[in-house]
Amino acid sequence: MLSFKLFSHYQELLYGLSEIADGAMNAGGGETKEYARAQANRHQHFANLGFTPSAVVSAVLSHGTQIHEGKPADGGIYLQDADGIVTSARDLLLTVTTADCFPVYLYDPGKQAVGLLHAGWRGTASGIMHNALQAMQDKFGSTPSDILVAIGPGIQACHYEVHDDVLGRFAKYPAACIVRDGKTYLDLPRVLAAHAQSSGIRPKNIEVSFLCTYEERTRYFSARRNPDAPLETMVAYVAVKKRENS
Ligand SMILES: [Zn+2]
Repeated sequence: MLSFKLFSHYQELLYGLSEIADGAMNAGGGETKEYARAQANRHQHFANLGFTPSAVVSAVLSHGTQIHEGKPADGGIYLQDADGIVTSARDLLLTVTTADCFPVYLYDPGKQAVGLLHAGWRGTASGIMHNALQAMQDKFGSTPSDILVAIGPGIQACHYEVHDDVLGRFAKYPAACIVRDGKTYLDLPRVLAAHAQSSGIRPKNIEVSFLCTYEERTRYFSARRNPDAPLETMVAYVAVKKRENS
């Protein structure tokens, strides 16, 4: 089970990342057999978490930076062209899929608002972290110093070899571009954390998972580890549950 120290005090917060044993969780595919199976896997997984399909809002990714505000009326919907969702609605499960890209979980305990991002190199380079934190401020009145940011699991610098096309977008972050044996590896969480800090997030309110999806071969799918196989993805999710006494 995925666990961040940063979130340990907040019983109302439900978050996580599915694993291989839960099956592929691809969203927004066509009418294929694989997609139908993924749909069934998703519904089962959400039911185990206590959510019906009509209480789940899913982003169908485009490797962009668009942030959508999830409303209860969006339940059951696949949002096209969104890579991030934020909400202040209770009992609404936000989801994105990943398979090496990083899920980023945002929580403002005071405003009881959450966000969930899909961050690969493209979205990160284009500023998805900043956009999402700005959306939390604009839509919910969040103050950056109150927002908690948890990053990962995803493909870490141990395995994430990149080439000039990608590196060119991260020239401002030499510490995140690690050269080893003539190859260069990108530490994407380091860039995401730097972006969070430049948006006003306190360093102590940022936590990075050290789990590497490439390395955890029995636990997580990895697009990079299986380049020739059809893409299989995990689903990341977050929700604020209704409090018993409210
Ligand atoms: Zn690794």
